[in-house]
Parts: sequence; C-alpha cells; structure tokens
Amino acid sequence: MDRARFVFLDRDGTLVHDGGYVHKVEDYRLLPGVVEALRSLRDAGFRFAIVTNQSGIGRGLYTEADFERFQRRLLDDLEAGSIAIEATYMCPHLPDARCTCRKPEPQSLLDARDRFAIDLAASWVIGDHAVDVRLAANAGCGGILLLTGHGAEERHKLGDTPVDAIVADLPAAAHHILTHERSVRS
Ligand SMILES: [Mg+2]
Ligand SMILES: [Zn+2]
Repeated sequence: MDRARFVFLDRDGTLVHDGGYVHKVEDYRLLPGVVEALRSLRDAGFRFAIVTNQSGIGRGLYTEADFERFQRRLLDDLEAGSIAIEATYMCPHLPDARCTCRKPEPQSLLDARDRFAIDLAASWVIGDHAVDVRLAANAGCGGILLLTGHGAEERHKLGDTPVDAIVADLPAAAHHILTHERSVRS
C-alpha cells in the first residue's frame, strides 16, 4: 500500500498573520488564499499536520491554554473549509532548552511518520523561517520558504541549507508542490 504524503505546515506567518508571538484569539487572521491552497493539495492526495515552535510559552508571554484556544480557532476555521489538520506538533520550550521537539529537530516528523505511515521523501515542509527549511532537510522532505511572515529576513539565514523553492505565499507553495511532485517510494 502506498504510504501517506503529508504537507507539514508551520503556523505563524504561514497560515495566520503573525505580529510576533501571536496568541490572542482577537489577533487571529488567516492569511489570504490559505483554504484554497490547502484544498488543492488535499485534492492531490496530501494530508496535513502543523509543526510550530511556541517559545513564547517558555518565555512566559502566554500559556499553553492560550495556545490551545488560538489553535482551536484556526482548526475550526479550516474544518469549516473542509480542511483537516490531523496532528499538531507544538514545542513550548526556549531555544536553548536542547529539547528534541523544537524545529529544526526532526523528532516530530519522525513521530508523525510512524503514526501515519508517511513517506517523508514524498512529503513537504512549508514555513516562513529558516528552521522550517532545515526541518525539511533534517527529515528528508522537500522544503519551501515563504516570503509571508518573517520570510524576507529569514531567507538570508538559510546558509547552505538546501531549499526547493522560495515563494511569495502558501498558494504559490501549493502550486510548486503540484508541479514538482517528489518521487513516491512505496
Ligand atoms: Mg512561522
Ligand atoms: Zn521542545
């Protein structure tokens, strides 16, 4: 049986507007074209998970309950658009905590692989930070950097990290994926 193909989505600056440590439901704003982009990927057989670093929790700027409320708002919005997010991998730790759940550590994607029988080589990571692209490289996925969110500054932090595409926004990333299918090794 063919293994699952996933698109691992960063949240802040990728799916939702990020004014910096976004966590208040009243600041929730879905970025333009997100639902349509995810639908086109869904229709091509991709499934979705969110992978998000939330060091604002470790910094004491907001709580895990705040995160969950905001996340619920997003998931409800996407569900209303017939988009299912099958898992959310969230790291609440500080960058120097040396945990294994913070991007670009690949542990969350390896867990997802085992849980959903994912073909990581046929899967993708999309985000607006260099760590999202590094996560893709560390897990053996395709990696796309968006210029929404912090992407304009982050593109200069890629260093020698391989990146499949640097594109304007999530709709452009979906277009890239649908026209550059990675080989399915089942
Ligand atoms: Mg982001
Ligand atoms: Zn962590």
